[in-house]
Amino acid sequence: MDNIMRIVALGVCTGCGACGSCEHISFMQNQYGVPAPTVDDQCTSCGKCIELCIYDPNREDD
Ligand code: SF4
Ligand code: SF4
Repeated sequence: MDNIMRIVALGVCTGCGACGSCEHISFMQNQYGVPAPTVDDQCTSCGKCIELCIYDPNREDD
């Protein structure tokens, strides 16, 4: 799995919405009332959404 569910699983997603440009991502409120992304089963694991997330711990900024 390389999509933003990895960020959600780490518990560091803030629901900022930056990854929401992919048609396979949708936002629902989590148990805390905060928007949280979910990925559908058509995701190709291209990784573009991860590149948009500033909370990816593997991110390498220029
Ligand atoms: S870009 Fe990252 S922090 Fe923002 S909603 Fe997506 S996974 Fe969460
Ligand atoms: S298709 Fe790519 S951009 Fe869309 S959710 Fe999957 S990994 Fe992220």
